[in-house]
Amino acid sequence: MAMLTFTLLGKAQQPIYKEPGQPVERRVTDLMGRMTLEEKVAQMCQYVGPGHIRETQKRFKGQKIAKGDDANGFYPNLSVNQLLELTEKGLVGSFLHVVTAKESNDLQKLAMKSRLQIPLLIGIDAIHGNALVSGATVYPTPIGQAASFHPELVERISREAALEVRATGAHWTFTPNIDVARDARWGRVGETFGEDPYLVTRMGVATIKGFQGKDCQGTEVALACAKHLIAGSEPSNGTNAAPMDVSERTLREVYLPPYKAAVEEANVFTLMAAHNELNGIPCHADRWMMTDIMRGEYGFNGFIVSDWMDVDRIHDLHHAAPTLKDAFYETIDAGLDMRMHGPDFLEKVVELVKEGRLSEAQIDRACSKILEAKFRLGLFENPFVCLEKTAQTLSNEEHLQSALEMAEESIVLLKNENDLLPLDFSDYKNILVTGPNANNHTILGDWTLQQPDANVVTILDGIREIAGSAKVNYYNYGDDVRQNSMDKVNEAAAIAKKSDLAIVVVGENPLRYQKSKTCGENIDRMGLDLLGTQNQLVQKIHETGVPTIVVLVGGRPLSVNWIAQNVQALVQAWEPGSLGGRALANILAGKVNPSAKLPISIPRHSGQIQMIYNHKPSQYFHKYIDGPSTPLYPFGFGLSYTRFAYSSLKLSHTRISDKDSFTASIELTNVGDREGTEVVQLYIRDIYSSATRPVKELKDFARVTLKPGEKKTVTFTVTPDKLAYWNRNMQYGVEKGEFEIMIGSSSQDKDLKKVKMEVL
Ligand code: BGC
Repeated sequence: MAMLTFTLLGKAQQPIYKEPGQPVERRVTDLMGRMTLEEKVAQMCQYVGPGHIRETQKRFKGQKIAKGDDANGFYPNLSVNQLLELTEKGLVGSFLHVVTAKESNDLQKLAMKSRLQIPLLIGIDAIHGNALVSGATVYPTPIGQAASFHPELVERISREAALEVRATGAHWTFTPNIDVARDARWGRVGETFGEDPYLVTRMGVATIKGFQGKDCQGTEVALACAKHLIAGSEPSNGTNAAPMDVSERTLREVYLPPYKAAVEEANVFTLMAAHNELNGIPCHADRWMMTDIMRGEYGFNGFIVSDWMDVDRIHDLHHAAPTLKDAFYETIDAGLDMRMHGPDFLEKVVELVKEGRLSEAQIDRACSKILEAKFRLGLFENPFVCLEKTAQTLSNEEHLQSALEMAEESIVLLKNENDLLPLDFSDYKNILVTGPNANNHTILGDWTLQQPDANVVTILDGIREIAGSAKVNYYNYGDDVRQNSMDKVNEAAAIAKKSDLAIVVVGENPLRYQKSKTCGENIDRMGLDLLGTQNQLVQKIHETGVPTIVVLVGGRPLSVNWIAQNVQALVQAWEPGSLGGRALANILAGKVNPSAKLPISIPRHSGQIQMIYNHKPSQYFHKYIDGPSTPLYPFGFGLSYTRFAYSSLKLSHTRISDKDSFTASIELTNVGDREGTEVVQLYIRDIYSSATRPVKELKDFARVTLKPGEKKTVTFTVTPDKLAYWNRNMQYGVEKGEFEIMIGSSSQDKDLKKVKMEVL
């Protein structure tokens, strides 16, 4: 009896916020009622993980750190010990880039010593798998994922990535990047889903659903973060963080739709602001975007995190706030809730509230949402991760199988003259494999830290696995895609002469930990040509007369004009991840029939930028005088080893009201001799409109698998929102008049069947 009384008493004394059975809202209110102003503001502070700080401080030891250099953020005035003390006092809300489960547990242990025992929220850039963590499954980068046109698979790999994130003690990923990429010079194209707002939207929604759903016990698996608000993916000169000047019309038609869906359809819980300024306002101080549009129009109900050092940059880069403290004021007042990076924020924000410039309600808005995230993620019940779980989860068989599938569906076959592919390896005795990306980790893409060699099947490995009795001769051209040695070119060509097939793997280097990187974040380019002597390498090998296959590895489209015209086979492999080499080999050997399509146009020259398929009617009224105005390869294009025929495009209605839906169907037949999957694409054009409309826009797509000779009717439902747009008066709706409905295998006119209908 005495025992029972004690237990009941104990229970009664438990604060409401510690009771798992209580509704989240109640727990948040109860906890906030117990917090000081300082503790609340502390929830808005995120710091880089101590391990990462130590490592970076070591790397930069003795070097003068330039202002504006990212290394500047590694807390010259805050020691790791001081940061750990802050954690123990409950004055840190979140960490990023904590890359081991052990470090996460150690930090949570410190947080559990604090007065209110509020767990930490740990975020990481798990952009294509939890690839900043050693041993994780590395999936193809988002540009390759988009090439699959397969949102269900993207959702599945995102869920797997979320499990790998949780298994290493993090709970929140800074993904998806739903920037619409319209400038291939920008180094971050590889982490986007390409140039088309609809495709980006479908892929973004799939990623968020994969990361955020509940597990079997009803706990949120992880949080996603849709980024970056907004339009930084078409910077004025192609360089990351350069200003963007864009009309409200373009914002609403191109850049905002993926965010609208991320919020309204996928309930994304966090958003990230962008490095750039938009129309003269630094994005981190943009109330219109963060508060009016996201929260007001779309009903966003989570929290907004800053990007790396960008709050400070309102002051020291954009010069839109005279002091750092003013920058803090600007950003919170505009609607930002968490500062990603660094000290000083806590003290100065507390001062801003005490001075009456910020209200406590503004702090409560931010703090309550961050706490809500922690409750939903189950962190108050258990902030720790079981280390055995880490080993069981990272790179497990199931995840690796999905990574392979995703890679196989992401690789685009661009050219296949005289059916050189698929290869029957028994036809070849000596195969030369060479090129800077043939045998290294560049296939892993950006946002990857070093991975064990044993986890990576390079392209050479993949070819060797499948080549059977054919002798595979690897010529080590070196890893540097910028190297200029003609000796290497000549040596490779000499081996090519004695070979009966050459596979040359060229492209870019996206590895952020290497000096020789040429794409990825902050690695922007003026041109889109192959760097160094890569072109000469291909040319010299081709000149020997040996049948040549060129494989492109990298995150951005490259203007490989000579190669496209001259070599027999060209494959865009993007950055296909841990098992990318195996996936590529399976495609070369015909074990897998390629099905991917380009999620971004490949320009012939960087001077053609903006090179997009969904351009306005006047874009090519006058043509260039020094070259074609068409892309090298158009959006939506990709070959298969079989052939598909499209026929009988039919609409259920050809005259409808602006409230009606109708269906568009087409017969698809596999007229080749092997099974294959086709991505059937539906485009729409509003023929006459009060404000100008693109010549066509992707509005739907379907992956259809057919056996040789098999035929299927593919039907799309066209709802009014697929015809709607922002009219001359910036009102959203469907205008009366004629529309063209197009279905086919790519965005180019010759691949599309067309029919007209009318809105009355
Ligand atoms: C990038 C973000 C990323 C952040 C944290 C920034 O430089 O722009 O996309 O989430 O770093 O790593």
